[in-house]
Amino acid sequence: MKTTVALVHESDPRVRVQRVINLLGGMARYVSPGQTVLIKPNLVYPDPPPRTTDPDIIAALVEMSIAVGAKRVLVGESPSSAEKKSKGLTSRDVFEATGVFEKVSKVDGEIVFLDEDEELEVDIPEAKIYKKAIVNKKFIEADVLISVPVLKTHFLTDVTLGIKNLYGFVSQEHRKLYHRDDLSQKLDDLLKIRKPNLTVIDAGLAMEGLGPKVGSTVPLDITIAGGDVVACDAVGASLMTYDPMYIDHIRMAWFDGLGEARLENINIIGDKLEKLRREFQKPDLRTTAIYSGVTVIEGGVCRECRARTRWALDELYNKALLSKLVPLIVIVGVKPYIPDTIFPSNLIILGDCALDYFYKNSLNIPTDAFYGPGCPPDSTPRMVSKWAWEVVSK
Ligand code: SF4
Repeated sequence: MKTTVALVHESDPRVRVQRVINLLGGMARYVSPGQTVLIKPNLVYPDPPPRTTDPDIIAALVEMSIAVGAKRVLVGESPSSAEKKSKGLTSRDVFEATGVFEKVSKVDGEIVFLDEDEELEVDIPEAKIYKKAIVNKKFIEADVLISVPVLKTHFLTDVTLGIKNLYGFVSQEHRKLYHRDDLSQKLDDLLKIRKPNLTVIDAGLAMEGLGPKVGSTVPLDITIAGGDVVACDAVGASLMTYDPMYIDHIRMAWFDGLGEARLENINIIGDKLEKLRREFQKPDLRTTAIYSGVTVIEGGVCRECRARTRWALDELYNKALLSKLVPLIVIVGVKPYIPDTIFPSNLIILGDCALDYFYKNSLNIPTDAFYGPGCPPDSTPRMVSKWAWEVVSK
């Protein structure tokens, strides 16, 4: 039997989410009286949609769950680990700033600050790389899990939808682990712990380009929902004109039998996907031959480091600092070629791989060079522009 995904195009977010759940047979198909429901929106930044899930969608799902007899409805999320580390951002800050705290409290939902909540170590025997996970305890124990992501492109995983949204349950301590090209495999492994009972993709305002934070807003007025998170993600990816099989974590999840990703095997009900599909601008990770006077030397480089290089250069350009720094050399990745001419230039070294190469080969690092530590490097645009201000103010 084909798995079913519902898709609704409607301008009012509350009407839209009610219609999409009705198409699936109503919330009672997913929530039984007396159960505890955990809703996981995408609330990693203290910013409005599309960086975060629409508060009205979250509140409507809380109300629908209570209406069918849920004993408790929890709404839990933790903040971006990069922003927590660099700016001290907490989930309390995000719930307040986005207005979700107020809207959910008004309809008798309970907020859970996942960065303060209890965690568990979990063995994942079928995992390929993420064998021992540290995740939020409620992620394991809630009777019903509802994933409510925003539809966005993502610089590292191409798209961020229902599967990627579960990453918020991973402990802050483990977030950076495998946050490289192997993140997709980690997401697939994480899904082996638990799949959401219901996924509701918020595409009221979506994001294209260099998501999930600095892309451009795309108003779509669409919600996609279903019980199979892989199928929901496949439909979401297709809406953005991606072939779902092109997206590593969607294909891996299908390959491992965690859900259906082949559109021909998905019964899409409601409004017509073909009529609503829109070409999304894909994340642009090109770094070389983009800005004059800038030479980017990549060794074997992960997408994560490449994206951070592009972010840093765009940031310097947008702040009118780049032209004052040229000639500029950026060195990134494993075993990069190091030219003899780096010293007359300003120099940026990004990531632990590139720095290790300098150390292992006893190469001198100029004292005024910028080094972005970490694998992947932390908060790169902010730190690079701080360094750039110091260089140009000399
Ligand atoms: S530091 Fe090296 S391994 Fe880590 S993300 Fe960058 S290129 Fe990849």
